[in-house]
Amino acid sequence: MEYREEEFLMLSGIQHFTFCRKQWALIHIEGLWEENLYTIEGRSLHEICHNSEFHESRKNVIISRGMPIFSRTLGALGECDVVEFHKNKNGITLANREGHYDVYPIEYKHGEPKENDCDIMQLVAQAICLEEMLICHIDKGAIYYGKIKHRLEVELTSEIKCKVRNSFEEMHRYFNAGYIPKVKSSRKCNACSLKKLCMPKLHKMTNIKKYLDEHLGTGGDDI
Ligand code: SF4
Repeated sequence: MEYREEEFLMLSGIQHFTFCRKQWALIHIEGLWEENLYTIEGRSLHEICHNSEFHESRKNVIISRGMPIFSRTLGALGECDVVEFHKNKNGITLANREGHYDVYPIEYKHGEPKENDCDIMQLVAQAICLEEMLICHIDKGAIYYGKIKHRLEVELTSEIKCKVRNSFEEMHRYFNAGYIPKVKSSRKCNACSLKKLCMPKLHKMTNIKKYLDEHLGTGGDDI
C-alpha cells in the first residue's frame, strides 16, 4: 500500500509511539507538547546536526546533514540527522559523484543508550525512507549518543523493519480515527514531557473513585 502526501505522518513520531502510544497520540493527534529538560537538550543537539546546506567529503566518504526524507509505503516524512555515503564498488551511484556508495544513516541523540527500542525504531524508519528514495538496501546504521560521545552501530534486520512498518500502520489507523489509546501509567511516565498533561495519577484516582462509587455507592464529589 502507498499513502498520499496529505496522509504522511511525522517520521520522528515513531520514537514517541514506541515509548508510549498515548504520548504519540497526544502530540500528533491532539497537538500537545510540553518542553522538559530532555526535549530542550535533544533539540539543541539536533539544531547543530541539521544544516541541510552542509555536505562534506572525506576520503571515500560523503557526509550529508539534515537530508529531507519520505516514504510512501510508511506514509511518513522527516529528516535524517546525518547520512554517510561510503565508497563501495557494490553500492549505488549518486548524481554528480564518481563511484559507487553504501548508504549509512546516523541518528544523533543527546542522552545515553536506552533500555527500549525508540531510537532504533527511528533509525530504521529513516533507513526505509532512504531505501525507497535511493533504491538501495541498507543493513547497518548508527546512533550517536552525546552523553557517552560515541556512536553505536545497529543491524537493520528485516524483523525490525517489519516492526517499524507495523507501527506506522497502527499510527495511521489511530490518526484516521482520532483515537487516543489508553495505557497504564508506569515508571517511564517520570521521564515523559507530557506527564502533567496526561495526568496518569489522576486517572488512577478516577478509577479508585469509580471503584468506590460502584462498590460502596458513595457517589462522591469529582476529584
Ligand atoms: S505520562 Fe505516561 S501514560 Fe501519559 S503519555 Fe506520558 S508515558 Fe504515556
